[in-house]
Amino acid sequence: MLSEFGEDAKLLAGGQSLIPLMKLRYANPSHLVDLNFISGMSYIKEENEVLCLGALTRHAEIEASTACAKIPILHDCAAGIADVQVRNRGTIAGSLAEADPSGDWATVLMTLETQVGCQKGKGNRQLQLADFIKDAYTTALAHDELVSEVMVKTPPKGSGGAYLAFKRSAPVYPTASAAVQLTMEGEICKDAAIVLGCVGLTGIKARDAEAALRGQQITEKTIAVAVESARAAADPQSDMRGSADYKRTLVGSLVKRAIDVALRRARGEQVEVSHIYA
Ligand SMILES: Cc1cc2nc3c(=O)[nH]c(=O)nc-3n(C[C@H](O)[C@H](O)[C@H](O)COP(=O)(O)OP(=O)(O)OC[C@H]3O[C@@H](n4cnc5c(N)ncnc54)[C@H](O)[C@@H]3O)c2cc1C
Repeated sequence: MLSEFGEDAKLLAGGQSLIPLMKLRYANPSHLVDLNFISGMSYIKEENEVLCLGALTRHAEIEASTACAKIPILHDCAAGIADVQVRNRGTIAGSLAEADPSGDWATVLMTLETQVGCQKGKGNRQLQLADFIKDAYTTALAHDELVSEVMVKTPPKGSGGAYLAFKRSAPVYPTASAAVQLTMEGEICKDAAIVLGCVGLTGIKARDAEAALRGQQITEKTIAVAVESARAAADPQSDMRGSADYKRTLVGSLVKRAIDVALRRARGEQVEVSHIYA
């Protein structure tokens, strides 16, 4: 149908980004192709250490899933998106396809090994998430191609992650957010992934911050270096959510807290977190 109707046709998933844009007249598609009529697109499966999420899997289903709870950073993300109404309708694939700079899923999934399954007619391809998201509101999808599945590799033993966002209230996008995934080998951090959200046109991989932790013991000193590097990597813009300086300070604090929770989880502790609300 997408091929038949051409570039002005749009897929409709949960409608939680597209419908508000249509109401504001920022989007005016000639046709809506409703994925909700296609059966079998909503599932959560574990296959050979890979968690497979169907395109129509809702945020709320991920929040409630015991399979997803094994990767706690996924639960942190799903449980913190907006409010119950949005989580009951919105989908993980719709969020990635929208590539909103303030969207939560891309930031979180960039700390994990994530592949995006794309389908065009009968043809399939798989892209690394980093290659799928090209820019703000821009992905590698062709107009007649859809996201069919999101595949997340289970992190290794000794790995723990955390996602924290600062929000003015529940049903709004975060002012800033930080996703951290640490893999520990004894006292040494074998690997670190740190991604900053809402402080750039896409999620920002804070490579210097990651390097400050990798191969090191996680101490107050190494955390301080990582936080400073994360603040330097942020590229925020001033807007109604706060000034660029404020967001840079905020993202540093979020990284610090997320490192603490990720480390405790990597050591096997059960830690419940929620976003921070103003
Ligand atoms: C009040 C409110 C608050 C919100 N707060 C947050 C928040 O804090 N954090 C957050 O991350 N999100 C937030 N959202 C957005 C929400 O998470 C959306 O669910 C999500 O961004 C889009 O998913 P959807 O399924 O609703 O997609 P839709 O709105 O149906 O579609 C969005 C776009 O993606 C395309 N699309 C959808 N599915 C596919 C697919 N399978 N393949 C290819 N293209 C596809 C559509 O054509 C459209 O262009 C909020 C939304 C609202 C209304």
